[in-house]
Amino acid sequence: MTDIKVRFAPSPTGNLHVGNLRTALVNFLFARRQGGHFMLRIDDTDTDRSTAAFEASIREDLQWMGMQWDSEDRQSARLDRYDDALKTLLADGRAYACYETPEELGLKRKAQLSSGRPPVYDRAALKLTDAQKAGFEADGRRPHYRFLLDDAEVAWHDMVRGEVAYHMSSLSDPVLFREDGRVIYTMASVVDDIDHGITHIIRGEDHVTNSAAQIQLFEALGAQAPAMGHVALLAGADGEGLSKRLGSLSIGQLRGDGMRAEAIASLLARIGTSDPVVAQAALDAIIAGFELSRFGRATAKFDPAELAQINTRVIQQLDFADVAAELEAAGVGGGSEFWQAVRDNLATLAEAGDWWTVCTAPLAPQITAAEVTTAAADLLPAGDLSADIWGDWTKAVAAETGAKGRGLFMPLRLALTGREKGPEIAPMLAFMGRDRIQARLRGETA
Ligand code: GLU
Repeated sequence: MTDIKVRFAPSPTGNLHVGNLRTALVNFLFARRQGGHFMLRIDDTDTDRSTAAFEASIREDLQWMGMQWDSEDRQSARLDRYDDALKTLLADGRAYACYETPEELGLKRKAQLSSGRPPVYDRAALKLTDAQKAGFEADGRRPHYRFLLDDAEVAWHDMVRGEVAYHMSSLSDPVLFREDGRVIYTMASVVDDIDHGITHIIRGEDHVTNSAAQIQLFEALGAQAPAMGHVALLAGADGEGLSKRLGSLSIGQLRGDGMRAEAIASLLARIGTSDPVVAQAALDAIIAGFELSRFGRATAKFDPAELAQINTRVIQQLDFADVAAELEAAGVGGGSEFWQAVRDNLATLAEAGDWWTVCTAPLAPQITAAEVTTAAADLLPAGDLSADIWGDWTKAVAAETGAKGRGLFMPLRLALTGREKGPEIAPMLAFMGRDRIQARLRGETA
């Protein structure tokens, strides 16, 4: 193990979707690639919106993806630590009590905007006398607390974006605690990252300005900020922001649609990078090919159609042993031979079950050229039905009927499978069996 330690910090206020799963994956791959530590931190300070069910579903999705975490913690278990940190900041003059109501703050913002000034908090609370504060308290107001930003430029070398600089004069002093005593993420996250010894923070670019303020907060709490990397957000295939439908596309839905974890990881590990997307059937290969430095500033395009293609290519790489348990659970028999017969033609594993049904349960054949299919029934060779009989058998049918090419093969396919497309028929014959083959070729449901 190196001393690298990263964290994925979901708020359990919804299911994981492709955007936040990508953040998790990038952290996971970064840690695994370098022998580092991957932590799961549950950001559950928003008690109104956090639920145990969302948390359970996030854990299930991460585990299903094969992204096992090395340790975990939750913000709701660390409230004392945030109180301690606030005391430190108050003692050092880096936090201050404010008494404005949301309505008063709203009016200030409006006035600033209408006179063309940036809506930055005016620090009026810094000038409150003790008597004024006592007056607010006597009126039943409770303070919220803000962090006093240092009026300077904060610059860092971002692992993804390169040199980044923000002047703090353009930011409002961030609120650390609400008037109801609940800590705000900005504060809790920094205290956690310090206590957990996080070395690298990798998250979405929507956190960049947060990071600028948080870097000062790390320093005010006597720590050095971790290295930071902000990955570009996902866009739909058209380059526009993720549509509502895609943005809320949950991992559970993708799983239900038959997408494999390795296909999702293959795509999410590479979109937005200068490396090509490669379908990998094993997470280890994705780890080995991961470089954070390849991520760029341009939005990454997520295209469900591309995911479906990668899924097909992942399935083509799976050996029978990789899928035996899933096939058995789905009632698919035929062992390795059946898997070899259908594997290259599957968009999802569930389709193996469809082909097993085609081979082993009655279906109504489609007869489009009765002379061809009847001849095929008559000419079916005796003996076992290995795939090698196909060539001689179809040649014999061609010689008898004069049919060739599509005119020969499509009637056979439609009669035997009831479908226009699918895996090669030859290796499926053995699973259909002689009686079923001949009956279907004669137009009987079998
Ligand atoms: N809970 C925060 C979020 O989901 C975590 C951000 C961070 O990684 O610091 O946006």
